[in-house]
Amino acid sequence: MSSNIPGVEQRDPQYFGYYAQLQHQQNMLQDTVRTSTYRSSILLNGPTSFKDKLVLDVGAGSGILSYFAVQAGAKKVYAVEASAMAGKMKKLVSDPNRNAFLKDKIEVINAKIEDPDLPIPQVDTIISEPIGVLLFHERMLESYVYARDHYLKPGGALFPSKGTIFLAPFTDATLWSETMAKARFWEQQSFYGIDLTSLYKDARDEMFGMPVVGHFDPNNLITTPFNGYNVDFTTITVAELQDLTIPFEWTAQYTGLMHGVAGWFDLLFASTNEGTTIEMSTGPAAERTHWQQVRFLFKEPLAVNARQQIRGWMRCIVNDMRSYTIYVEVTATDGVELSDPNDINRFKEQQETGPLMRRGIWELHEQTYNYNYTPGMMPDHKPEYSCLYEPEFNLDNHDLEAMNVMETYEDFVN
Ligand code: SAH
Repeated sequence: MSSNIPGVEQRDPQYFGYYAQLQHQQNMLQDTVRTSTYRSSILLNGPTSFKDKLVLDVGAGSGILSYFAVQAGAKKVYAVEASAMAGKMKKLVSDPNRNAFLKDKIEVINAKIEDPDLPIPQVDTIISEPIGVLLFHERMLESYVYARDHYLKPGGALFPSKGTIFLAPFTDATLWSETMAKARFWEQQSFYGIDLTSLYKDARDEMFGMPVVGHFDPNNLITTPFNGYNVDFTTITVAELQDLTIPFEWTAQYTGLMHGVAGWFDLLFASTNEGTTIEMSTGPAAERTHWQQVRFLFKEPLAVNARQQIRGWMRCIVNDMRSYTIYVEVTATDGVELSDPNDINRFKEQQETGPLMRRGIWELHEQTYNYNYTPGMMPDHKPEYSCLYEPEFNLDNHDLEAMNVMETYEDFVN
C-alpha cells in the first residue's frame, strides 16, 4: 500500500479487504430485513424496471442483488465489485452444475465503478446497497451517484431511490455514566505512582467523541424525531453528499436529561416507472437490522422540560477515513442564538462555552458498540423507568416561565 495515494483512496486496501471476506457478505445477507426488502423491491418492480432490461449492480459483493434482478427477468446484469469477492461471485455464477438460470445473464466486473473504460453500456436500472451507519458512513453513496451520472439512461430507475435521516434527542444515564467512568480512569493522581490527570480532558474528548452504535429502547427518546432529512439519490450530487447540514427542531415530550442525539434512517425504493414503492426503517421501534442505530453522546447532559423547544443543527463533512466528521450544536433555551453551521472554525473555538448550549464533534468512523439493549427485551418498559417525566396537565409557554422551571443541567445538579 502506497501512502502517497491521496484522500479516501488510501483506505481502499483495508476497505475492500474487509468486503473480500465471505463472513462480512454473510453478515449482510443474514440481515433479513435488508435482504428481503431489496428482494421485494426488485421482484415487485420486475415488470416495470427489470424485465428484459439492462441492469447495473454497483458493489455487487456476493451478487445477491444481481441474482434477484435475473429472477425479476433482467436481460443482462453488469455486476461491478472492486474487492476480491468478485472472484467468489464468478465461481458461484459459472459453476456448470448449479444455478442454471443465471447462465449468460451476468457479467462480473472486478473493478471500482470509478475506474475508466469499464465495459458497461448505458443501463435502464441501477441496483446497489451503498448504505452505511447513519446512511452515509463508508462514503459509498458517492460511488452510487457516480454510477448514476455515468451509466444510467435518462429516466432510468434507481433502487433504492431515497434515504431519509432521522434525528431525535435521547436520555441514557447508564451509557453516559459508563462513558464518563472510562474517561475518569485518566483522573487518577497516582496510577503506579504516576499522575495521569494531564490527560483527563483528552480522554474525555476521545471517549465522548466516539459515536455509539447499537440498538436502544425507543422509550429513551425524549420526543419523536423531526420529519426527516431527505437524501434523494436521483438528484443529489457528489459534492452535496460530501457536506450535509441537517437543521432540527423538536418539542420535548418529557422532562428529563438529554444525553445526546440519536440517529437512524429509512430507505425508499420508488420506481420512476410507476412501480411498487417499498420502504424500510432502521429506527429503534422497527425490526432490527445490521445497521442498528447510532448515538452521539454529549459530554454534559442538557436538562429539558416537557414542551420546550430543542433546536440545533448537525453538520456532516467527509473525511479521509471513508467517513464523516460530525458537528452538533443544540439548545433548549428560548432566545439563545445558534451559531452559523457554515462557520466551523468559530464553532471549534467555542466548543466548551455556555451552559445553555451543547456542542460536540464526533468522528463517525471511531465507532464504539453498545449491546446493552436488545429490541423486545423490555416489552413493558415505560419512559419513567428512564427518568423521563410527562406532566399530567397542559402547560402553555407562559405557564412554563411562571413555574421557574429548571433551565440547565447545572441548575439540576445544584
Ligand atoms: N450488493 C451486495 C453487497 C453490498 S456491500 C449485497 O447487497 O449484499 C457493498 C459492496 O460494494 C462491497 O462488496 C464493496 O466491496 C463494494 N464496493 C464499494 N465501493 C465500491 C466501488 N467504488 N466500486 C465497486 N465496488 C464497490
